[in-house]
Amino acid sequence: MALRGNAKKIPVLSGLHRDLSRAACLVGMSRRSLLVTVGSAVAGRAFKPALAQSKVSQAEALYQDRPKNGISCAACALFRPPAACAVVMGVISPQGWCRFFDLPD
Ligand code: SF4
Repeated sequence: MALRGNAKKIPVLSGLHRDLSRAACLVGMSRRSLLVTVGSAVAGRAFKPALAQSKVSQAEALYQDRPKNGISCAACALFRPPAACAVVMGVISPQGWCRFFDLPD
């Protein structure tokens, strides 16, 4: 892998390489799997602001006006009472749900 060769030349990358390997070992994953997992998480976080800038349609969000598996908009970090959402257009029921549901931190 290119990182390995560069890691020997750049001390910061060498430390990163060692830390990633150690972290991967601790959670029982390969370094590559850990990188993919972390990368996906970062990409997911980056996706949220993009959504906030332009709302998507209820159809795109697979919005429904009833809870799914006991989870509803009222518990979502993106819900804006009394009946709006930061990322989905239109009137949003506190009892609704969509695929962008985000549990508050
Ligand atoms: S579940 Fe979907 S529609 Fe409901 S508040 Fe969250 S993001 Fe908006």
